[in-house]
Amino acid sequence: MPLFNDEAITLRHFDFGEADRIVSFFGKKHGKVRIVAKGCRKLKSRFAGRLEPFHTVDIVYFGREHASLFKLSSVDMKDMRPAAGEGLERYGRACYVTELMEAGLREGDPNPKAWMAAEAALNLLMRETRVAELDWIVRFFDVKFLSHIGYTPTLDRCVVCRGLLPELPQALFDAEKGGLTCPRCKHKSNGLIPLSAGAAKFLARILTTTFADAARLKPSPQILGEIVRCITAFRNQRLHAKFNSEKFFSPANIAYTGEP
Ligand SMILES: [Zn+2]
Repeated sequence: MPLFNDEAITLRHFDFGEADRIVSFFGKKHGKVRIVAKGCRKLKSRFAGRLEPFHTVDIVYFGREHASLFKLSSVDMKDMRPAAGEGLERYGRACYVTELMEAGLREGDPNPKAWMAAEAALNLLMRETRVAELDWIVRFFDVKFLSHIGYTPTLDRCVVCRGLLPELPQALFDAEKGGLTCPRCKHKSNGLIPLSAGAAKFLARILTTTFADAARLKPSPQILGEIVRCITAFRNQRLHAKFNSEKFFSPANIAYTGEP
């Protein structure tokens, strides 16, 4: 049976059978995979303590090509991120990052750019303690990750007619269609989120900024709030998942749900 190796971020696990555990990983080379860790809940298991979420590990596993479930052969710690037990603020946001990966990635579909973004986001989260900064890291990741998995909002022209957007103090975001809409097309929308021209420009800048420069791009709380409303509505239109970890976020960063 083929043997695979990968550098992988641990997303989550659940108990299986008497002493086993099924672990979901996001591998740099092979994408998201689900792997059974046999006997992992036994005290003397060789996997003990190495399969918690948020760590990056070197894994070796085997199974048929394109199988839906593999078997773990070995795991070595590469980048340890003990987010649990170090404060709910950090833990909740690290959970969100892994929940988003779990919801957005297809199994066996490699995505090195998304992997690099996830790795960068988790590393920044582990170093940061200020709540506002933690929120910014997560929201930056939101935009970058969604874009890497194929969901990039249209911000440079009208998402409906493809025409140029007029320079107005307020822009209109159509989460369902996936971008900004011009005033002529606004009646074709099922719900628009108003946002300031500054927030619209800021959102576009995130798309072209790397994680290394994320700290330099820090938005004001108001602009961040506007971006969060747009991007969470945009995400919810594309990923039909429930994000339990969102309850950890600051009130200003909670998803917008109403009509404008
Ligand atoms: Zn238009």
